[in-house]
Amino acid sequence: MAPMLRPSSCASVAAFGTRIGLMDNDQKKQGKAQPMTTDLAAVERTDSSEPGIGSLRSKLLWALYVLAVVVLAWLAGEWNARREKGIQIDAIHRTIEVQALGLRGTVARYNQIPFVTAQHADIKALLQSPSDKALTNRVNRFLQATSRQVGSDALYLMDSRGVTLAASNWLETESFVGDNYSFRPYFLDAMAGHDGFFFAIGTSTGVPGLFMTAPVRLGDEVAGVLAIKVSLRDIEDAWRRSKDPVFLTDAHGIVFLGSIEAWKYKTTRALQADELAWVHKHRQYGERASFAPIEWKQNREASEASYETRTLMDGKPQQLLSLDENLPEFQWTLTVMTDLAPVNWARWMGRALAVLLALVLILAFKVAQQRERRYIEMRRHRSELEKRVLERTAELQESHAFRKAMGDSLLVGMRARDLAGRMIYVNPALCDITGYRADELVGHLPPYPYWHPDDLEKHWQDNDAVLSGKTTMNGFESRIRHRDGHDVYTMVYSAPLIDSTGKHSGWMSSVVDITEQKRAEEQQRVQAAKMQRTGRLATLGEMASTLAHELSQPLMALGSFAGAARAYADRGHRELLNETLSDISEQAQRAAEIVGRIRGFVRQQTPGFQDCAVNDVVSNVLALMRPEIRHQQARVITQLDAHLPAIQADRVLLEQVVLNLVLNALQAMQDKYPVDKQVRVQTGAQDDMVFIRVSDRGPGIAQPVVAQLFEPFFTTKPDGLGLGLNICRTTIESHRGRLEFENAPQGGAIFTVYLPKSL
Ligand code: ADP
Repeated sequence: MAPMLRPSSCASVAAFGTRIGLMDNDQKKQGKAQPMTTDLAAVERTDSSEPGIGSLRSKLLWALYVLAVVVLAWLAGEWNARREKGIQIDAIHRTIEVQALGLRGTVARYNQIPFVTAQHADIKALLQSPSDKALTNRVNRFLQATSRQVGSDALYLMDSRGVTLAASNWLETESFVGDNYSFRPYFLDAMAGHDGFFFAIGTSTGVPGLFMTAPVRLGDEVAGVLAIKVSLRDIEDAWRRSKDPVFLTDAHGIVFLGSIEAWKYKTTRALQADELAWVHKHRQYGERASFAPIEWKQNREASEASYETRTLMDGKPQQLLSLDENLPEFQWTLTVMTDLAPVNWARWMGRALAVLLALVLILAFKVAQQRERRYIEMRRHRSELEKRVLERTAELQESHAFRKAMGDSLLVGMRARDLAGRMIYVNPALCDITGYRADELVGHLPPYPYWHPDDLEKHWQDNDAVLSGKTTMNGFESRIRHRDGHDVYTMVYSAPLIDSTGKHSGWMSSVVDITEQKRAEEQQRVQAAKMQRTGRLATLGEMASTLAHELSQPLMALGSFAGAARAYADRGHRELLNETLSDISEQAQRAAEIVGRIRGFVRQQTPGFQDCAVNDVVSNVLALMRPEIRHQQARVITQLDAHLPAIQADRVLLEQVVLNLVLNALQAMQDKYPVDKQVRVQTGAQDDMVFIRVSDRGPGIAQPVVAQLFEPFFTTKPDGLGLGLNICRTTIESHRGRLEFENAPQGGAIFTVYLPKSL
C-alpha cells in the first residue's frame, strides 16, 4: 500500500524530488538518446527497406507521367497547329475571295465590250465590204479609240475565216491586221454563236492576255468575230508583291499567271496527250512543246480542302499551306499558298506550353508534396515530442511518487537543507520525531524549534560542523526537544546534496531516533550494575563465611595475643609485651585488610580506571576465593607472567570478572573427583594485549549452549542467574577488550580475557 503523504509536505517533496529527479531523468535521457537514434535509423531503414518495389513503382509512375506529358504536348501542339491553320486558312480564303473578285471584276469590265462594239454599223459594214479601205480605216480608228478608252491591249475584228480585218493596233508593227486566228478557240466559239473566253500568249506579240470574243451577226448569221485582248499584268504584278504565292491554272493544270515566275507554264498535274495536243493546236502558250510539272510535293487529305506543299524557293525548302478555288465560269483554278511556319511554330508553341504546364504542375506537385511531407514530418515530430513529454512527465511522476513513497515510508527522519541551513525538505518521519509539521520546518533557518534548550551550544557547533562540511561518516549524537516537551535522542548523519548540474546545493541529513536504544542501554547498564551488585551480594553470602573464617583466625589470634599481652604487662615483661602488641597490630591490620577488601568489593563504586597490575588482580581474587577453593577441594595452578605492564582498568570490576570465571570453572567441575578438580589461571602478553586465561577440566561448553553463552539470564544451573558471563563481557568490552572461550582438546573450557596494554 502506498504511504500517504501529508499535504503540507507535498510541495517540499516535489521541490526536492524534482531536483533529484532531474538528475535521474537527464541520465535517463542520455541513456535513451542512443536507442532513440537507433529507432529513427530503423525507421529510415524501413522506409528504404524495399527499394526494389518503391523505386520500380515510382519509375513506373514517372514513365506514365512522362508519357502523359508527351501525349498532352502532342495534343496541345496539334490543337494549336490546327487553330493556327484555321486562322491561316481563313486568311487564304479572304485572299482568294479578294483575288477572285479582282479577276471577275476585270473580266466583267471587258467581257461586254466585244458584244457592244460588234453592234456598231461600221463593224458590220466592214464585214460586208472588207475591201473598202476608207471603211477599214474608220473601223481601225474606231477600234483604236475604243481600245484606248477601255484600256485593253487590243480590240480587233475577224471575218468568218478568222482573218483580222481591222484592229486597234493597226498602226503598230505587231498589228493583228491580216493575221488569221481561226485556230483560236475564242474564234471558234464566237463563230458558233457564243461568247469566246480564252487566256493565251499572243501569237503576234508574244504577250499573254485574256481573249474575249463576241459573234458579229448579220441578220441571223455570224459574219465575223470581235475580239478584245486584256492584259492581266497588273493583277500579276500585284500578286508578285505579295509574299504568299498566288497563281492561276487553266483547265489542264498549267500555271499561266502567278507570282512565282519559275512555276509559270508548268503543270500542277501530268498532262494527257490529247490535252497537250489541244494546247498545241490552239497555240495557247506559244510554241511550247512540253510542260514540265512543278517541283513540289503535295500532301492532300480527302477530308480537307487545304493541303500542304513542300518545295524549294530561292534554294530554301519551304512548307506552304495551300488552298485551291475553282473559278468554273473561267475553268480556272485560283491557288493561294501561305507559309506553314506559323502553323509549325504554333504546334511547337503548343507543345512547349504543355510541357511548361506539366513542369509547372510537377513543380507545384513537388512543392505540395514537400509541404505535405514536411507537415507530416512536423506532425510526427510533434506527436513524438508530445509522446516524449508524456513519457517524461510519467517518468517524473513515477520518480516523484517513488521518492515520495520512499520518503514517506522511511522511519528514519530525512531533512534536506540548502547551503545556508534553510530546510527545503522534511519527511513525515522527521515530523514525527520532532513533533513539528513540515510547513513549520520547511523554510526554517537555524536555530530550529526542536533544538534542546540545554544543548544550544552543542547544536550550534554541530550545525556549523555540518554546514562547513566537517561532519564524519559516523554522524553525531544530538539530543532534541520534542514539541510536547520530552527529550528525544537522535543520531544525525549528513551528506552533501548535489544537484543535476553537479553543483553542491545543500545538505541531506538522516535523523535516527535512538531514544529507545538509549533507554535500553541505560536499563541494561542499570541492570548490569544491579546484577553486579546482586552477584556481589550473592557472593557476599559466601564471602560472609569466608570473612568469618578469615576473620575468626585473626580475631582469635587477637584475643589470645591480647590475653598474653595483659599477662606480660602484669608481669612487667616489657619486651614480650612489645612483641605481642606487634603481633596484635599485625593481626588487626590483616583483619582490616580482609574487611576492607570485602567492603570495597561489595560497595557500589563509581567505575574508574587506574593503573592496575593484572597479576595482582588474579592474586587478590584467588586469595579471596581460597575458602571456596579449599571447600571444593580443588587445585588452582597459576602461571603468571612477571613482566606484564600495568594496564588501565577498574580493578574491582576486573577482579569480579576473574572471580566469576574462576567460580564458573569450579562449578563446572563440581561433579568431578577432587583429584580432577584443577583450575589453571594464566596471564601473559600477546601483541598489544595482555590476557588472563582460566582453564578448567570440566565438561566444556556444550554445542547447544555456545550460541547463548553470553545471553543474559541464560544458565544451566538450578540456582544460577545467567548473568555472570554477560556482565563479564560487558565489563571487558567497556575496557576495549574482548572475552573469548574455547573447549580444550583434552576436555574442559578455556575462557580468555584480552585487555589492551594501553587504552
Ligand atoms: P551462571 O553461572 O549463573 O549460570 P554464567 O553467565 O556465569 O551464569 O554462566 C552461564 C552458563 O555458562 C552456565 O550456566 C554454564 O552452563 C555455562 N558455563 C559458564 N562457565 C562454564 C565453564 N567453565 N564450563 C562449562 N560451562 C560453563
